[in-house]
Amino acid sequence: MAKIPVPGPSKLDRIVAEARRHSAEREATYRERAFKLYPHICGRCGREFSGVRLRELTVHHKDHNHDNNPLDGSNWELLCIYCHENEHARVEDEAVRGRSPGTQAPVATHNPFADLRQRLDQKNKG
Ligand SMILES: [Zn+2]
Ligand SMILES: [Zn+2]
Repeated sequence: MAKIPVPGPSKLDRIVAEARRHSAEREATYRERAFKLYPHICGRCGREFSGVRLRELTVHHKDHNHDNNPLDGSNWELLCIYCHENEHARVEDEAVRGRSPGTQAPVATHNPFADLRQRLDQKNKG
């Protein structure tokens, strides 16, 4: 009797587990490197982390692309989990606010949407 292998959920599980393992490995790699490159201080609130509390310090990708991991660390920033969350919330907030004209958010740093907004305004006028 020939057994026909059925591609059941176990195969999918394996693929998912494999993908998870890969991304975990990749994260461990850039995390380790970023932690060697930078002092263990949150780039926003300036708190210092050591020992078990290092778990609260995360590697933020400045361009939000987790696949962009230059070895010189130029795309990384160490942020504590709280500031990291705020950072992502802020960017989403700006994206939302950028769509409604009239509300000028005070932006001290580079705003990737400023140019887009200007271009949209010009288009509307023309
Ligand atoms: Zn922080
Ligand atoms: Zn991030």
